[in-house]
Amino acid sequence: MSSLDTRLRVLRGPAPPLPHNARTLAALTTNPNCDRRALLDAAGIDKAALATHLDLPQPLRKSQLALDYGIAFERQVTDPERGALAPLLRQALQLPLHQASYKDINNLATDDGTSPLGLRRAYTSSCILGAAEHRSEPHTLLDHPVLTLTVAGHQTYLEPDAIAFHHDDVFHIVEIKSFPVIHGRPDPLKVAASLTQAAAYILALRELLTGRNLSAARVSDTVILINPRNFTRQPTATPYNAAPQIKHLSRHLARLHRLPDLLDTLPDGTTCDLAPGPDGTPTRPRDELIATLATMKPHYTPDCRHHCDLAAHCRTEARNRGSIGALGPTVRDDLAGIDTIHTALDLADGRIRPSPGNEDIAHALRHAQRIHETLRKDST
Ligand code: SF4
Repeated sequence: MSSLDTRLRVLRGPAPPLPHNARTLAALTTNPNCDRRALLDAAGIDKAALATHLDLPQPLRKSQLALDYGIAFERQVTDPERGALAPLLRQALQLPLHQASYKDINNLATDDGTSPLGLRRAYTSSCILGAAEHRSEPHTLLDHPVLTLTVAGHQTYLEPDAIAFHHDDVFHIVEIKSFPVIHGRPDPLKVAASLTQAAAYILALRELLTGRNLSAARVSDTVILINPRNFTRQPTATPYNAAPQIKHLSRHLARLHRLPDLLDTLPDGTTCDLAPGPDGTPTRPRDELIATLATMKPHYTPDCRHHCDLAAHCRTEARNRGSIGALGPTVRDDLAGIDTIHTALDLADGRIRPSPGNEDIAHALRHAQRIHETLRKDST
C-alpha cells in the first residue's frame, strides 16, 4: 500500500472507503476550490455519516416521486420491445441507423438485476474493447456499463446511468434524464450538470481505450441527452458538445494530484474516524470532529446545499467568519478583493478607506447604501 493510501486511510479511519461516482466528480468541478471536500472524497469518507453525527439537515435532494418518475422514463426509453432508442439516436446524430442491438450490463449474471461491480466492469471492458477492436459482434448500445477512472492515482468505479453507443467506430455517451425539454428548451443548469457527469464517463471510456493503444478520439465529445418533451413522457434526443466540461473535469482531476500537498497541511494523525461503539453508534465527541474539519480549508458557496452533506456546517462556519462567499458567486465576483462581509459593510458606511484598486467597489457599496437608506426612510 502506498504512503498516500496509508495517509488517506488514517484520515478515514477503519470504515470502508466510499468510491467516487460521476456525481461526486461533478461536485468536484462545481466547487474545485474546496480542499475539505477534496480531502474527504479522496479518502472515501462517508460525508453523510459525518453530517448525521453532527446532526446536520440533509442537503436538498430529489423527492421519491421525482426519482420514481425518472426510473419509469428510463425504462420506457430503453425497453427493447418498444425500440425507442434507435429512432432517437437517428434523430440526434442523423445516422442511417435502422435498428440497434441493446445489452443491459446491469442484468448480467444474476436474476435480481444486480451483479458485482468487478464482474460488470470486466464484462463492460470486454464488450467495449471487442467492439473497438472489431473482435466481437458489437453490442451497439451498452446500458449501465461499469467503467473505471483514475482519480488521484486510484482506480475509481463509475456506474453510469448512461449508455455507451458504438457506431462507425465511434463511441457516444447517451444519458436519459427526466427533466423536460419545454418548447425546445431544457433547464440550462440541469443540462450543464448532466454534461459534467457525462464528461466523467467519456474520460473513463477514453482511459479504457488508450490503455489498449486505441485513440481517445474514438470517444466523441458529443453527448446525447434524452429527455421528456414538453409536459409529456414522449422522449426527445438532443446532441450537446461536452468538450468544455471534459476540459474542465480533466483540469480538476489533474489538480487532485496535489493531494499530498493538501495532506501535508493537516496536523499529524488527523482523522475523521467516528469511533463507532459496539452497537455501531459513533462515540467521537462532536466538538472534536468539528475541530478536525476545521483543519481542512472549506470554500463554501450557496450551491454546496445541492451537492454536499456538510453544507449546513460549512455555511455556519462561513457566516461566522463573515465570508463573502456565503452570499453566493455573484456577490463574491462583484466584491472581488474584499475578504469579509464586515469589511464590505465598513466600506459602505465609510468607516474605512478602500485599499488601492478597491475604490470602484467602495463607491458602488456607498451608492447601494444610500439607496437602501432612502428606501428605508420612505417605507417608515
Ligand atoms: S459544503 Fe463544505 S465541504 Fe462541502 S463542498 Fe461546500 S465547503 Fe466544501
